[in-house]
Amino acid sequence: MKKTWNQHLQQSICTLAEFQRRFPHAPIDATACATFPMRITPYYLGLIRTFDFSDPIYAQCVPQSAERAAPRWLDEDPLAERAQQPVPGLIQRYPDRVLLITTGQCAVRCRHCMRKRITKHECAGVDTTTLERWITYLRAHPEVRDVLVSGGDPLLLPETQLFDLLRAIRTVSSVEIIRIATRIPVTLPMRITRQLARQLSAFAPLYINTHFNHPVEVTPEAAHAAKLLADAGIPLGNQTVLLKGINDTPETIETLCRLLLRNRIRPYYLFQCDLVEGTEHFRTPLDTGLAIMGYLRGRLSGLGIPHFALDTPENGKIELLPNAILSRTPAYTLLRTTNNKTIRYPEPKN
Ligand SMILES: *Cc1c(COP(=O)(O)O)cnc(C)c1O
Repeated sequence: MKKTWNQHLQQSICTLAEFQRRFPHAPIDATACATFPMRITPYYLGLIRTFDFSDPIYAQCVPQSAERAAPRWLDEDPLAERAQQPVPGLIQRYPDRVLLITTGQCAVRCRHCMRKRITKHECAGVDTTTLERWITYLRAHPEVRDVLVSGGDPLLLPETQLFDLLRAIRTVSSVEIIRIATRIPVTLPMRITRQLARQLSAFAPLYINTHFNHPVEVTPEAAHAAKLLADAGIPLGNQTVLLKGINDTPETIETLCRLLLRNRIRPYYLFQCDLVEGTEHFRTPLDTGLAIMGYLRGRLSGLGIPHFALDTPENGKIELLPNAILSRTPAYTLLRTTNNKTIRYPEPKN
């Protein structure tokens, strides 16, 4: 019998003792595990091919000693999200968009998580007082047209809470689009059923952004989950985090983007790893991302090329691109092409 999604959740490995009992010879760090407890679904565990940190799945979910490095530039809340909540749980950094923290629960706790301060508590979902305050805020701020439902993982909310939330957001006529940020298609794809996809599609225009980091994660199960959502008319996007030793080569990102496109998931962002506690060993130089972008452009359909971005406290995301402009005069601009030729573009004469 295939496990249901609930069984997968219940049978997740959450303690050091359980991990060591099942995998007595596999490396794991007790201190890192105590600082940010692990949580791994049997499904995600099944994607591991080598039980050590050279494996891209293992490295994303098993605590390692390198997480203990604590240089001064790492922070618990690197994007200063706590200071940007006009009401608790509602983060606003742009005039037209807000992000809602709906739960601390996730199916798998990613070691690179940028909201460990929230996800380590598994705090339960949205209470009615909080929901009322969010809706009051949205009504008072009609300039907000885009609501990002995030967490934690909103697709782990009890269904009544999830749909009450979505229904409440939809009572605010100034909200144009809803986005759900979820890693469920990657870590617990069986949670995406035909029924859930149909129920979500009732809140259109609703977009789903997911978080595939490596080609190994694009399994038949994940592809099926994406198909159910796409067939229900839900546009899908993907946000990858660039992680050293996991996906920081141009070939890995190219393969991932091609697989995503084939499954109707548009690569949306390629993020520089946030300056969050426990991630120093995952960080790549900015040049790594820039080189990947230079490699993708010209090789891969424009449709499959993500925005490479760095997130900053208070000021939002900064998109980074390899420099194309070499020099300028009023009459012409010298540009570098993706295959490293220099061309001269004449500016219009006014
Ligand atoms: C990333 C983010 C958004 C959405 O940004 P987009 O570039 O529109 O995807 C909105 N609010 C917050 C707080 C964010 O961190």
